[in-house]
Amino acid sequence: MKTYSRELFNRAINCAVIIGLLFVFSGCSPKVVEVKTVSPVKISAGEHIFTKFPVLEYHLIRRPEARWSRTPENFWRDLEWLRANGYYPFNLRDILAGFPGLPEGKVPVVLTFDDSSSSQFRYLRSGEVDPECAVGIIKRFNAKYPDWPARGTFFILVQTNNPDRNIFGQPENPDYKAGKLRQLEEWGMEVASHTYSHDRLSDISTREAAYSLARSSRTLSGIISREVVSLALPMGLYPKDESVFTGSYQKISYDFKLAAEVAGGLQPAPWEKNFDPRHIRRIQTIASEWKKFFGRE
Ligand SMILES: [Zn+2]
Repeated sequence: MKTYSRELFNRAINCAVIIGLLFVFSGCSPKVVEVKTVSPVKISAGEHIFTKFPVLEYHLIRRPEARWSRTPENFWRDLEWLRANGYYPFNLRDILAGFPGLPEGKVPVVLTFDDSSSSQFRYLRSGEVDPECAVGIIKRFNAKYPDWPARGTFFILVQTNNPDRNIFGQPENPDYKAGKLRQLEEWGMEVASHTYSHDRLSDISTREAAYSLARSSRTLSGIISREVVSLALPMGLYPKDESVFTGSYQKISYDFKLAAEVAGGLQPAPWEKNFDPRHIRRIQTIASEWKKFFGRE
């Protein structure tokens, strides 16, 4: 009986030593990964302890490269650079759920698109998605690199005096509009609001702001059968009363939980003290900003 106990004791000691060694070699000192930005975002494998992440802002995807235009080639290169430098794509609304499914060692990046021009989502006469529009590029990139899901948040205008900006243009085919919005959601991307008519929320009354937000929310959510929670402020102009982001107008209720600015740099993570969901900072995708925030030439 005594010998038996001693044998058990010895076995327990051996196990403890082995477990201890495993701990020392694997879990004890988590690998710190540095993600490329000018001020490095450091994260540990197995824990998501990044403090900042980028929300990128695109407008037109077309040639030539200009202040508000990124060429299809440069947009593709942006995606390759982000993938090679430790980023993983999400929609803006995924902030609210804490970026579910973020792989170990990666930092989230959110690609956002303003003004819903046809350069972001265009169908060719054949019925195929234009491979050179933003959505076409995101889909092709995902087909080439399945570890990069098709994600992107599109801030939609419903009615402006520029037909190319009203729900991705192509006014000759009015049926495309609803189809494109539903298609985005089906593919895992996000339909979001840029107000109804690109309204300068600082210059109109709170009641007028509520009207614009309610109409936008009702139109978009009516098409996609899903609540619309993200808003980008036209020209970054804030309403006088920010409580207007949630409310109702003539029995149409809406709730914009996230509001994006036009600039500001890297966005604080949701668990940081200075996180403000109605003031989401963004980085414009022009050469000077890539250099400033990512050190990319
Ligand atoms: Zn805009």
